[in-house]
Order: sequence, then C-alpha cells, then structure tokens
Amino acid sequence: MTVGATKQRLGLLGGTFNPIHLGHVQAARIVKDRCRLDRVLLIPSFIPPHKEDREVASAEHRFKMVQLAVAEEPDFEASAIEIEALGTSYSIHTLDRIKDSYPEAEVFFILGIDAFMEIATWKDHEKVLDRCSFIVISRPGYSLEQARKVLGGRLEDRITDLSEDENLGAAPSSAGPAILLLEIDALDIASSEIRRRLQDGASISGMVAEHVREYIKEHGLYMTNQEILPTEIKLCVKAAGDKKAEDILVIDLRGISSFTDYFVIMHGNSNKQNQAIFEGLDYALKQKEIRPMSVEGKRHAEWILMDYGSFIVHIFSPTARAYYALEKLWGDGIKHTF
Ligand code: ATP
Ligand code: MG
Repeated sequence: MTVGATKQRLGLLGGTFNPIHLGHVQAARIVKDRCRLDRVLLIPSFIPPHKEDREVASAEHRFKMVQLAVAEEPDFEASAIEIEALGTSYSIHTLDRIKDSYPEAEVFFILGIDAFMEIATWKDHEKVLDRCSFIVISRPGYSLEQARKVLGGRLEDRITDLSEDENLGAAPSSAGPAILLLEIDALDIASSEIRRRLQDGASISGMVAEHVREYIKEHGLYMTNQEILPTEIKLCVKAAGDKKAEDILVIDLRGISSFTDYFVIMHGNSNKQNQAIFEGLDYALKQKEIRPMSVEGKRHAEWILMDYGSFIVHIFSPTARAYYALEKLWGDGIKHTF
C-alpha cells in the first residue's frame, strides 16, 4: 500500500516479548509518530521449545499476548512471521520475507540500544544493515551514544541523532541506509523484571496491558517457582515424575476452594501406568507419614483420586483428563506446570 506517491513506511519491532510490556508498546507508539511510520509490525521470535526451560513461554502464548497488547492500536499488528517459520529466528530471513510481502514498503528495523549493541552477533548482520534503515531507541541504563561505537565505529557515517534533526533524519547516504537514533522517555520496564515479579508473587499491574495481565494469570505463565509450593506438593510432583506421569500440573486453590488448597493433576498413558503412579505417590508420601483420607477409582484407574485433605491428587487417563477438564473448571487458581 502506498500513501500518495510516497512509499509506505513500515516499522518492524522484533523481540522475545516474554512477555510484551508497556515499554514495548509505548516505544513503538513514539517511534511511529516521530518517524511518521504508517504501520508497525511487532514480531515475536520463535524459540525452539525446551521442556526444561520454563522461563520462556511458548511461542503461541507470547504471540497471543502481543495480539492482546496491540488490539486497540489500529496501526500496530502482531506478526506471526517468525513463529510460523519455526526454526531459530534470524532477522535476515525475516527481512527477506517482509520484503516479499511488502515489496513497496520502506522498511525500518526498530530496536532498543541494548539490542543494537549486540548486532555483531546476528547472522548476516552486514546484509541486514545494508538492506534496511534502523531506528535505535534509548533505554534506561544505556547511553544512546554507544550506538556510534557499534562494529568498531564502522556505522558512524550513517548515524543521525533525531533529537538534533527536525526532519525524519538523513536521506540514505552512499554509506548505506540511515541509522536513526531516537532518545525517548522510555519506561523502565523489562520482561525479565516482570518474570521475576511473577515468580515472587508480586504485582505486575502498570507494567503490562490489563488484558495481558489477565492472560498471564489465566494460563499461570512464569509462576512456576517450585520453591513457593509446600513440601508435600513438591514430593507429589517428584514421585509422579519418577513414574513418568505426564503434564503434571499443580493448581493453587487457596482462597478459591473451601475443601482443599491444592490440586495435583497428571495423566498416565495406560491404566497400568496409572496404578504405578498411584503406588509411587502413596509410597513416597507414606515415608513422610502423610496418608490419604480416601482413595477412589483405583480399580479402573481412569481417574484415581487421592484425597489428602489440604491437597488432592488426580491421576487421569488422557481421555478422562480431557473430559473432566479440571484445569478449566478451576481456571481461577494459580497454575504451576512441571
Ligand atoms: P528481557 O528482559 O527478557 O530481555 P525485554 O524487556 O528486553 O526482555 P525484549 O523482548 O528483549 O524485551 O525486547 C524487544 C525489543 O524492545 C528490543 O529491541 C528492546 O531493546 C526493546 N525494548 C524492550 N523494553 C523496552 C523499553 N522499556 N523501552 C524501550 N525499548 C524496549
Ligand atoms: Mg531484552
């Protein structure tokens, strides 16, 4: 799409967005206005999932949160371009694909100074730098001037500080497309700080959009700090894991349910395995003098329910688990996945 005779000015803001926060959205808004961009794509990177790595939410969750954060911004769009590509995300590939989809557009890579300082580590960074303009924004704790030293000062000729330039910055010079520095009143928010707060059970209101906060809560993202769970729950998780129980989930029901504090939910792939999980759990807890008040469903092992009073263990078959959908029913509780 072109505006009159001028090319569409398209900004790309990539990131892990783990999760997206108000600092990202505010920065994108300022850049869009100051640099007169027509559109900004926010592009969450794909990160190969490692079961061990609980720090990074799945690509799907991160993408959905970006969608929620920009739902009210008509000129912003969550782009799944890197997530759909599945492999490790490289800017050079993203840029090629964007240029295919928007052949008419003038493309600007938007990034914080912290990210720009790492550009030497990008695959084919010389090519990326040759093929599009950059807008580098300030971030608390970093000096924007450091951009001039990147790659041994080789980019110096292409850099324009927008705070000293009334216009949109220098036209592309023979040295290559422009690199524009934009000092903004950046919010002092980082995703890593948000994750830390969630693990500590602290509030993140005012750091992310309200809908993003609700989404994080609903899906129990980042709240997987096992340390805050009671010992007997950790013991259950460990014993279940030893018997290869799948998708072990703890729901913290304190303040939500009157009959118990925690659900420990899992499934096994056969009745035999469920029996083994039951026996393993029963044994491990008995070692600590913790005995169930009642046990149901042991014979068919489709749904074994071990009621310990302050917590209840549910060992399901995959079908019964999907059918009873306890995790949905008790969706208000904080979830810990293992
Ligand atoms: P983490 O702490 O996990 O690294 P982050 O807050 O830095 O997360 P990223 O997804 O790594 O978020 O950042 C994506 C892009 O947004 C980067 O270019 C980064 O420099 C920029 N950015 C992140 N937070 C801010 C902010 N508060 N103000 C301006 N730019 C930001
Ligand atoms: Mg970062």
